[in-house]
Amino acid sequence: MNDAIMSIEEKNRQRKARIGKIKKLIVGSVIVSILFPTILSLCLMLKVFSLQEQVNELTKMIENKKESSEVDKTVDLADGVYATELPENMQVQPMANVESTTEANSNEIEETIVYLTFDDGPSENTSSILDILKEHNVKATFFVTGKETDEAKALYKRIVDEGHTLGMHSYSHQYSEIYNSVESFANDERKLRDLLYEVTGVIPTLYRFPGGSSNLVSNIDMTEFIKYLKSEGITYFDWNVASGDAASQNVDVDTLVNNVLNDVGLYHTSVVLMHDTTEKTTSVEALGKIIESIQALGIEMRPLDENVPPVQHIKAESVNN
Ligand SMILES: [Zn+2]
Repeated sequence: MNDAIMSIEEKNRQRKARIGKIKKLIVGSVIVSILFPTILSLCLMLKVFSLQEQVNELTKMIENKKESSEVDKTVDLADGVYATELPENMQVQPMANVESTTEANSNEIEETIVYLTFDDGPSENTSSILDILKEHNVKATFFVTGKETDEAKALYKRIVDEGHTLGMHSYSHQYSEIYNSVESFANDERKLRDLLYEVTGVIPTLYRFPGGSSNLVSNIDMTEFIKYLKSEGITYFDWNVASGDAASQNVDVDTLVNNVLNDVGLYHTSVVLMHDTTEKTTSVEALGKIIESIQALGIEMRPLDENVPPVQHIKAESVNN
């Protein structure tokens, strides 16, 4: 009898133990099935966050790249009018590409020369620009517009007297006017040429198209104006290094300096686009730094003349008269 009770009790104990084990197993697997996904999703969330950060950084980098390349391709927005993108075939080739695609004598070491150019002057900043150039013993090129005040005339004269190149940038700088017809372009150009000759005694032979030769503003094919300039013996220059000061009124000094320094070494002939307008004070502030940094690289700066290898978005030699 006792044995029978014992065995029942024993069986009960064993059953309880088994139930206990099963309970533990269930609780354990519940815990695991909750904990494991929680930990896993925490890990995944962390991964997502870090990926998101990387994506943000990349997006920022792309944005910056985009911005700087837009600045490069932004032509002369002094009037705040239009920006153009250069068609693929008009992109200026960096030096490395040029070297690999031309049959230039590779033994000949071509030196790099930088040509600083200032568009849209004279302005209230021209004197300061000239002072800085003088201080650093650097000659540059001024692509000026037509202004008939005594101050402006004195500045045209000072530009020439101090050994800089005085180039033309249209009399009116009104896109709608100068690009309306070859005739109005020619009238505008002659008006400026006459004014500059009258004031300085020098006939200007260099031209920079407002908006560049690659501008998409002109209603007429730019090659028509190029033909006209060629017939007049006038050489036009675009640019392959943009300071970025065309983009807005006051780009900060460091950005301007970096924009120039990043690109100036890419070409044997670097034509740097800057602006000489009263509002663009940071261009003046940046100038000294730009010059000193270029000099520190051992690169010489010179004024443009018609013998400088042309830097043109639309090549003059591709246009037949
Ligand atoms: Zn301009």
